Amino acid sequence: MELLESLNPQQKQAVTASDGPVLILAGPGSGKTRVLTYRVAWLVLEREVPPYHILAVTFTNKAAREMRKRLETLLGYDRARRLTLGTFHATCARILRREAEAAGIPHDYVIFDADDQRALVRRALRELDIDDKQYRPSAVHSAISRAKNEMIPPDAYQPSSYFGEIVRRVYGPYQELLRANNGLDFDDLLLETVRLFRRHPDVLRRYQERYRHVLVDEFQDTNTVQYILLHQLSGRHRNLFVVADEDQSIYRWRGADYRNIFRLREDHPDLLTHLLEQNYRSTQTILDTARAIIRHNPNRTEKKLFTQRGRGPKIMLHEAYDQEDEADFIVETIAQLVRRKEARPGDCAVMYRTNAQSRALEESFIRIGMPYRLVGATRFYARREIKDVIAFLRLIHNPADSTSLRRVINVPPRGIGQKTLQALEKATDKQRASLWWAVEALTREEENAPALGSRAQRAVAAFHRMVSGWIEARATTTPDQLIERVLGDTNYEAYLRDGTDMGDSRWENVQELRTVAADYAQTGSDPGAALTDFLADVALVSDADNLADDTDAPTLLTLHSAKGLEFPIVFITGLEEGLLPHIRSMDDPEELAEERRLLYVGVTRAKNRLYLTYASRRARYGSYEDSYASRFLDNIPHQLVNEL
Ligand code: ATP
Ligand code: MG
Repeated sequence: MELLESLNPQQKQAVTASDGPVLILAGPGSGKTRVLTYRVAWLVLEREVPPYHILAVTFTNKAAREMRKRLETLLGYDRARRLTLGTFHATCARILRREAEAAGIPHDYVIFDADDQRALVRRALRELDIDDKQYRPSAVHSAISRAKNEMIPPDAYQPSSYFGEIVRRVYGPYQELLRANNGLDFDDLLLETVRLFRRHPDVLRRYQERYRHVLVDEFQDTNTVQYILLHQLSGRHRNLFVVADEDQSIYRWRGADYRNIFRLREDHPDLLTHLLEQNYRSTQTILDTARAIIRHNPNRTEKKLFTQRGRGPKIMLHEAYDQEDEADFIVETIAQLVRRKEARPGDCAVMYRTNAQSRALEESFIRIGMPYRLVGATRFYARREIKDVIAFLRLIHNPADSTSLRRVINVPPRGIGQKTLQALEKATDKQRASLWWAVEALTREEENAPALGSRAQRAVAAFHRMVSGWIEARATTTPDQLIERVLGDTNYEAYLRDGTDMGDSRWENVQELRTVAADYAQTGSDPGAALTDFLADVALVSDADNLADDTDAPTLLTLHSAKGLEFPIVFITGLEEGLLPHIRSMDDPEELAEERRLLYVGVTRAKNRLYLTYASRRARYGSYEDSYASRFLDNIPHQLVNEL
């Protein structure tokens, strides 16, 4: 049939595999994602499976969008629309919204993003009188997150160090604070879904009947909860189709465990395994380099991988003097390739181990006036003005969201100062109630209401009237209209546009958000549900998802967010001991193996040309230090390399 013509024989076999559990185990660029996409199309077109019965899980929202576009071409818009395509988190968020009652969570719950999560940890630390300078909230939160991904509840948490003991003490209060705010963090989305299915076999049964075919991309990066979830969902029809490459597992720090591939085999003795051996992405030189690096990892099975793309140019290796020099070299090289018409700016990607490395690169790009796309750091949704507007919407959606209320109660300034806020909070502490409760109690002049001066009281009452008006309008107002109204009522534009360029650009961001929200007005569902969907999606956009796909500019991104992507020309920077491998990973063989996989992922993103760079000194924590070429470079055979 026509659909299968653009596939090689191995890919064809994989796409048309019979029902039951199937594992596609193959190296980078061999068409795993393509096979998964075609499998979905084949199930619908050839096996006549209604799209409604298919669930495909991707690693990022961006990957989901790309797959959806592909499938719209293959299946037509109407059929593609009925597929469930998304990340684990987005899928669980929807299930929990629908099954809130059975799950025992409020149906208007809000998703706490990474910043919110850290803010809650900081609060819990303060409540326990623990110094948040000594115990960084982000580190404490990661530890809690790992426990949740292993499905360890607060009371079963076993600390193995003094730091662990701090985590143990914070974990419970953190969880309580989340609940008091009607909030779920990212890990809760998965955890609560698994719990729901455990407690309510009837509900699980419904989803098993709905998702008769479950397909998973990047399976090597699933963690324990995700594995259990897949096991539950596919427990009845057993049509689980996963693609994986254990050499590309790079999310161990988030609890991912590539051993889930072996676990799958143990749980399904009838698991069919398919291999794909032709790489369509890279030149032979790039593949040889990748293999030379990864073969030093212990406990792996070598996979065959060949390409018909020919040898291609050698790998370019460049030693720079310092990070500025390194950045200039890269930016110059890109500019030259563009001048010679050997590449478009958008063909190029610059990858690094840590976000901080982008600064020198950005400065170089700015100096020569070449636009660039930065994945991560200036995330749209992390900007102050965007967070403000979202906080207003979240408050409207769920007044018990005290984190959002705290953020906007005096934005723009309306005379509700720190002291007033403290008085409100003190009143809530006694009741463990939400801040909104205190605001309401005050305006109703209840007896346990917080005691405030009359000016503060008037300010709080005015704020209460304004927000209540929005809440009343919520059910009949689309998200973009709601934003409009919030901006108007709060006079937000005047507050933001202070006559500087910065102010103007911030206002543009707000307009951009309104455009995004307008999309949700057209989904046909009622405005209240549109707001819910909008907020859920906003909370789930991850770093990699803020890439504007249509600008012709080089992409700057971490090796982690490069997963699954491909670029004609790739630069990997900072190949130095202490950076790649990272200093925190050098003493632990497992961590070191993961660093090697990370470089492997980076190298295999390249289609045509690969540049590797390092510097002989680098500023770290404010002072310059000598640095040494990464041990991984020693693994690359000399004949593959050109030193520049
Ligand atoms: P990764 O491990 O990096 O996620 P992958 O195995 O998922 O890679 P894909 O991204 O699916 O690989 O495919 C890599 C590239 O090869 C894509 O550009 C894809 O369109 C192309 N490709 C895959 N199979 C074929 C084929 N049979 N004919 C032509 N191009 C192909
Ligand atoms: Mg892929």
